[in-house]
Amino acid sequence: MAKLNIVKIGDETLRKVCRPVDAITPRTLTLLDDMLETMRDANGVGLAAPQVGILRRIVVIEVEEGKPIELINPKIIAYAGEQREQEGCLSVPNRWGITVRPKHVTVRALNRHGETFDLTGSDLLARAICHELDHLDGKLFIDNMVEELE
Ligand code: ZN
Repeated sequence: MAKLNIVKIGDETLRKVCRPVDAITPRTLTLLDDMLETMRDANGVGLAAPQVGILRRIVVIEVEEGKPIELINPKIIAYAGEQREQEGCLSVPNRWGITVRPKHVTVRALNRHGETFDLTGSDLLARAICHELDHLDGKLFIDNMVEELE
């Protein structure tokens, strides 16, 4: 595994719409492993491929230690409720703000074996899913935060 460089705000890569993964190759699996290592090293709970300069629809999330979630071509298929909580981003250093997100989210994605699965998350996991999927469409949390925190 290798640690990747995290792209920071100001880099155009973060504003691009990512393309779907059409075939899961050994390179895809290496990228997933490297993204996980990079996220853990940076003490993050989520990382999207554009944050390491790759414009593909790939996300890793780990809100519970030792239980990484890998999402390939993820789509939110259901959501419910609302939460207003603090958010930050590895690509937007030293800024935090309150965002409004659904309290519960169901995402449909492929796993590393190419199998479709659904995952429902609440609270922090729901926030992480929304935040990371936004990255795949070139959106950052600062675009829709309702209050910036000092
Ligand atoms: Zn982020």
